[in-house]
Amino acid sequence: MKIFRPDPKAWQPIRTLLQSGLPQAMLATGESGSLLGGYLDLLQAAQLCFAPTEAGFACGDCRSCKLLAEAAHPDLWVVSAEPGKAIAIDTLRQGMEWIQYTPQVSSTRWLRIDHAEDMTLAAANAILKTLEEPPARAHVLLYSEQASRLLPTIRSRLQRIPLPVMEMAESRQWLQQQGIDADHSAALLRQLGNRPARALELWEAGWVEQRREWLRSLLDLPGQGVVAALKLAEQWSKTKDLLLIRELVLGLIADCMRLQQGLLDRITDLDYLNELQRMAPDVSAEALQAALDDWLQLPVALAQNSNGVMVMEKLLLDWLTLWPRRISHGIQN
Ligand SMILES: [Zn+2]
Repeated sequence: MKIFRPDPKAWQPIRTLLQSGLPQAMLATGESGSLLGGYLDLLQAAQLCFAPTEAGFACGDCRSCKLLAEAAHPDLWVVSAEPGKAIAIDTLRQGMEWIQYTPQVSSTRWLRIDHAEDMTLAAANAILKTLEEPPARAHVLLYSEQASRLLPTIRSRLQRIPLPVMEMAESRQWLQQQGIDADHSAALLRQLGNRPARALELWEAGWVEQRREWLRSLLDLPGQGVVAALKLAEQWSKTKDLLLIRELVLGLIADCMRLQQGLLDRITDLDYLNELQRMAPDVSAEALQAALDDWLQLPVALAQNSNGVMVMEKLLLDWLTLWPRRISHGIQN
């Protein structure tokens, strides 16, 4: 993550923990893509550092800090699931073996498991013993969006890291420090929730244009009909950003629901407000709800069905039937 300097007050509880000695088995909870991941980066850097500062940060100069900056630290291992996938037992077995060895550079080995709730049951059981009796010079940190999905036997062995609550204003300010103007910073957080790190990543990947193109496709589809839907299904089933498209569709459906309920002030897709206002009355609340459920289930459908094109075809053909008036008359504008 880029330049992240937390507020000293927010860092204080972690500093205290560092000074008194970090627990060996830790749990941090927070939304992925928020700035909390930055806190964990700082924490692991400080623990691995040869000479942390008085304030509890890594020095930035020692061999450990330099290796971290090059993403080549032999005593750090970060395990993470790909979006929509589980963390498999083999991955964790390797990690459990790795952590048994003596650290090579720093005074400890640091294993971090991001999206820990995505561990399979077998994977979770495989790390249980290590959490129970961690090797002498080792730290294991589980980072989870949904700690409630962790096995109780795992949760009970972990000590929670006191991460601060992130304010929206702080996230907006951070995005602006990364060079994104105020309007776009606000729009990104509105569209993606309080997840500035994720917002920055998407911004750099051309999110604004990409999002516009996806939205355009969705809004135009009812006027274009079945052949266009099948073509789009084929195209989208090949993209690695399918879960992102899902987020976009979910946002669009939620906006239609808000419009139907007159909740104008909560609309997230302001760019398309006029168009949505024309479309929203055409669709029934029940049909919207059904579409919402189907798109929410997309990761499950993809996991159960090896034919991704078929999954997308069903979703997009259903999307057409949401707007029967638009199919028969085409878009009027
Ligand atoms: Zn250092």
